[in-house]
Amino acid sequence: MSAAIRFNVPYVAAATEAYLHESLSSGTLCGDGPFTRRATAALSELVGGRDTLLTTSCTHALELAWLLLDLRPGDEVIMPSFTFVSTANAVALRGAVPVFVDIRPDTLNLDEQRLEAAITPQTRAICVVHYGGVACAMDEICAVAERHGIAVVEDNAHGLGGSYRGRPLGTLGLMAAQSFHETKNLQCGEGGALVLHDDALKDRAEILREKGTNRSRFIRGAIDKYTWVDVGSSYLPSDLLAAVLLAGLDEFASIQARRQAVWTAYDDGLADWADSHGVRRPTVPEGSHAPAHLYQLVLPQAGQQSALIKHLAAEEIQSTFHYLPLHDSDAGRRYGRLGTPCPVTESVSASLVRLPLHPGLSSDDVARVIAAVQSYEV
Ligand SMILES: *Cc1c(COP(=O)(O)O)cnc(C)c1O
Repeated sequence: MSAAIRFNVPYVAAATEAYLHESLSSGTLCGDGPFTRRATAALSELVGGRDTLLTTSCTHALELAWLLLDLRPGDEVIMPSFTFVSTANAVALRGAVPVFVDIRPDTLNLDEQRLEAAITPQTRAICVVHYGGVACAMDEICAVAERHGIAVVEDNAHGLGGSYRGRPLGTLGLMAAQSFHETKNLQCGEGGALVLHDDALKDRAEILREKGTNRSRFIRGAIDKYTWVDVGSSYLPSDLLAAVLLAGLDEFASIQARRQAVWTAYDDGLADWADSHGVRRPTVPEGSHAPAHLYQLVLPQAGQQSALIKHLAAEEIQSTFHYLPLHDSDAGRRYGRLGTPCPVTESVSASLVRLPLHPGLSSDDVARVIAAVQSYEV
């Protein structure tokens, strides 16, 4: 029997060990050191030259975003129910209310048609998630936000390297949160970044990220002592993690090309099978480029999710479900509220299976996954 195929194997870039060694010998292991500066510059290039601040995770970048927007108890933030816990948790931590809306059955993104129905006088922002790196309908969503004078924040954990009508994902709202968790396209174990639209936000963001101090200005030599000037927390990653991240950034184009090759091979290889069995493949709308973060199949019936996962496991192929509806979770019911009914979220959550997708998959591995899926009796 050939080797087991894992769902994800974090890609360790060639320069990682050399950079770590250089960092360890540099005498600066805390944040804002030389690797933080280099990684930040390389990352900014991927998001249209916007200011970016490395953080310890996407979760922390989202927390920083809401601190920066002064989100208050009772404020509401609209988001899809079909997303990771952190999208909602960061809002709940400020005493504000996550308001869950349904997703579209094709892109699995927040349904822009239902958005306006969820807006109330308390609504402060919309937090979009580009599922699998497929862009949300941003023109429509931003038009609604503008009409109501509310902010758009992107949870862009899936979307680095993707685009919408020629613009990079992560640059379409007031701020974007990135993730460098080991399951993401670019990774340093645990890490993240906040991408800022507005220069005016940067000074305060730096302070909130540095325990409420103006240490970043001190490091740049702009002031000769630093002190406590605002609230904040410790969201600044060690320079060691920035060194790991920089190694990945050096190879980002080839990481993406390898992920794209796997994604396209699945999509070509499974098209006929999926179409003839009522299985939905990923939808990438005209004008969007998806960065091959996920390859998911949505089966016609809920009971088939665990059956397909078991069927693949019997062939030593690891596949997995995804988000459980947040509106129906213990904390979602306690801290959030339903903005619209979420039938699509509920049915997709119970019938979606993600296939292995990482740069280490060989074309034989991919062919094995395709054959194993095709041998499943829908
Ligand atoms: C992975 C992920 C996060 C959390 O990222 P961390 O870096 O692990 O905090 C948040 N939102 C979405 C949509 C994610 O996929």
